Amino acid sequence: MLPQWVIERKRDGHALTEEEIRFFIRGYTDGSIPDYQMAAMAMAIFLRGMTPQETAVLTDAMMRSGDLVDTSSIRLPKIDKHSTGGIGDKISLILAPLVACCDIAVPMISGRGLGITGGTLDKLESIPGYRTNLTEKEFVSVVRTCGCAITGQTGRLAPADKKLYALRDVTATVPSIPLITASIMSKKLAEGIDALVLDVKWGKGAFMKTIEEARALANSMVEVGVKMGKKMVALITDMNQPLGGAAGNSLEVVESVQTLKGQGPADLTELSIIFGCRMLAMAGKVKKPDDARPILQKHLDSGAAFRRFQEMVRLQGGDPSSLEDFSKLPVARFTEPLPAPSAGYIAAVDAELIGKGCLILGAGRTKTDDKVDLAVGVSGMAKIGQPIEKGQPLITIHANDQGRLAEARGMIAEAFVISKKACHPPSLVGEIIQPEKP
Ligand code: URA
Repeated sequence: MLPQWVIERKRDGHALTEEEIRFFIRGYTDGSIPDYQMAAMAMAIFLRGMTPQETAVLTDAMMRSGDLVDTSSIRLPKIDKHSTGGIGDKISLILAPLVACCDIAVPMISGRGLGITGGTLDKLESIPGYRTNLTEKEFVSVVRTCGCAITGQTGRLAPADKKLYALRDVTATVPSIPLITASIMSKKLAEGIDALVLDVKWGKGAFMKTIEEARALANSMVEVGVKMGKKMVALITDMNQPLGGAAGNSLEVVESVQTLKGQGPADLTELSIIFGCRMLAMAGKVKKPDDARPILQKHLDSGAAFRRFQEMVRLQGGDPSSLEDFSKLPVARFTEPLPAPSAGYIAAVDAELIGKGCLILGAGRTKTDDKVDLAVGVSGMAKIGQPIEKGQPLITIHANDQGRLAEARGMIAEAFVISKKACHPPSLVGEIIQPEKP
């Protein structure tokens, strides 16, 4: 078999065989198939698509291009959550320890932020000492000890994806449903989990701008997960306005701690509970997802979820006292509240503009090797539906540089629309995608 024969078949719209897909991914991983042939294949897949069967084989081949985490020593049900990312999305920091309080193991391998969306690892790295580079052995040991761990992808986890994602980035082949599915699912399924909950976000601050695109991606990922023997559910959630009141790395750690203590913003608390309910139902802890609500709420209100987070942070080398004394986290030099220009009700908060504003402040990266400023961002954001008086703060900007603050200010202010008429907060969950019952 020659790589160009396989490219030709995909170019002409045929479904590839399992042998062809495995040959291609094996060759690309070991270097015998060069970047230019993989780039041609990625473009052929982008233009012609893949059947669910091809996508599942591609996912499996990419997952097996490296190590699979051996979680067999963990006796509890192993369930993770993956989000396609958004502004202020700090659910992982809350959900992992919260669900771990319910005798479910959450082995979470997360990523860094790129563009306007933040990354779980960057947020956690604002905790002094926190290590996101655990070895596989350390990772499993932390999960065994406290029920959850959040670390980064080692070089040995799905290396085919690492190479291919970088190539897609520079060949305009990122927005392809089969390629995104295989990329995300190959990494998640290498974690050795039994079940996965997906948070597929749609809207201004999301990767998928329309609910239709989000639905197509969710269906594809659920179908592949099921084909690979995992329990799956996907929730399509709103990312037109940011989640919670803060965006920016250490500011999001602070808000996560408040939420873990039962004192977080309503939307962030509710979405964390919704995902937790799904995970408890998948683990067979409750009959219906909603039955898990009081259990999860109790772990937030009692401080158990917060203590579990502190324990995870300690086991990963972080300073647990920084979660009680926030002055030990990175703090920005300047803070500036933005006053509301008129009275009324918040009608819209454009997540993309808030994300771009945070990027200008230095909270995110435009290139994978950019350094992130962990202290900067926004907090105390007014949310859709909230009444507001003229001059009352819409949001507070945290900056380390006056020039960047001046540049970001206008963009962040423009994100808010104030209406004279009362408005309702949007529904957090648009749709639930579950596998069809056999
Ligand atoms: N995130 C990933 O990990 N891969 C993609 O292809 C897109 C988003």
